[in-house]
Amino acid sequence: MVATSPNDAFVAFEHVQKSYDGVSLVVKDLNLSIGKGEFLTMLGPSGSGKTTCLMMLAGFETATHGRIMLDGTNINEVPPHKRGIGMVFQNYALFPHMTVGENLSFPLEVRGMGKSDREAKVKRALDMVQMYSFINRRPAQLSGGQQQRIALARALVFDPSLVLMDEPLGALDKQLREHMQFEIKHLHESLAITVVYVTHDQGEALTMSDRVAVFNDGRIQQLATPSDLYERPDNSFVAQFIGENNKLPGTIESIGDGKCTVRLETGEVIDATPVNVSTKGAKTLVSIRPERVEYKSEAMPAGAHTIDAEVMEFIYMGDMFRTRLRVAGSDEFVIKSRNTLGQRMLAPGEKIKIGWAPQDARALDPM
Ligand code: ADP
Repeated sequence: MVATSPNDAFVAFEHVQKSYDGVSLVVKDLNLSIGKGEFLTMLGPSGSGKTTCLMMLAGFETATHGRIMLDGTNINEVPPHKRGIGMVFQNYALFPHMTVGENLSFPLEVRGMGKSDREAKVKRALDMVQMYSFINRRPAQLSGGQQQRIALARALVFDPSLVLMDEPLGALDKQLREHMQFEIKHLHESLAITVVYVTHDQGEALTMSDRVAVFNDGRIQQLATPSDLYERPDNSFVAQFIGENNKLPGTIESIGDGKCTVRLETGEVIDATPVNVSTKGAKTLVSIRPERVEYKSEAMPAGAHTIDAEVMEFIYMGDMFRTRLRVAGSDEFVIKSRNTLGQRMLAPGEKIKIGWAPQDARALDPM
């Protein structure tokens, strides 16, 4: 399902740039291939250019440079309603004066479909989101979650092969949002549609997507599967943006053969895996996930060095313990450990030793 070359791509951005004011670029030389049937999420902080990319794909914005391909055709000049793309936005955009049924029927009417075909399609789309019994209600008579389901049904009613979603769950409370994530994912799988999804919520992106494109400042910082993004961030932006992350600043002391040693600012030397640093003496930020750190009382991973730490705070979270430590001069080093039998609770002020496998410490360029 994942496009391996631009020739396999169902959607392709090719050297796409966008400027709104003719001066600054908010999308900078974007190249992205999306496979047929793929669930691709554009994830990034506010202002990073995600919505602009989605709007260019939908046809509501034009690219300043480059081209956008859909199923092998350049769609730069194709107006939005001729692209055959379904869309769902955060603010539902249902017509308030129409019933649910009329809201869904409308896009079919615009396409010139006859009444009985329309009724069959509307029923099928409402059944997909389990809302057929609401067909005669108006949007104001529905909850936020129900309205969003109708918006989803409306995007699917004309059998689009591509559906774009821009923060579709942003207005819902946490529980409903998580429930809807699974519903959308399930619909994606059962209908075999291609979805391009925009969110600033990394949990949502990791849960739902086949691949995630992490945006910052108009560029894709990394395009990868959720597990690769989390386990193997390419740079310090991605490491910080995805999940929780400990960072230790230092200097590369030795490097070669896929390994390096890093001298931390406080003098300790640790083993790490070089990612985008290549020279001895280079500044680096070593990135380590909180759940990859072990403490001395446990079996240390093979090849691990230990380093001194002092407990600042110990939080009991039921199934997990969260320990904040002072390590190499910083008070912000966090360990997450499972509450397993025999796992000892720690007290503030306690001195311990911690360690990790060298492959879990990633030496990144600080930029
Ligand atoms: P994101 O979806 O990642 O939050 P956007 O694509 O909405 O980012 O915005 C990227 C940049 O483009 C921002 O700096 C934003 O202010 C600017 N921008 C977005 N839409 C417009 C517009 N219609 N006119 C001018 N600037 C815009």
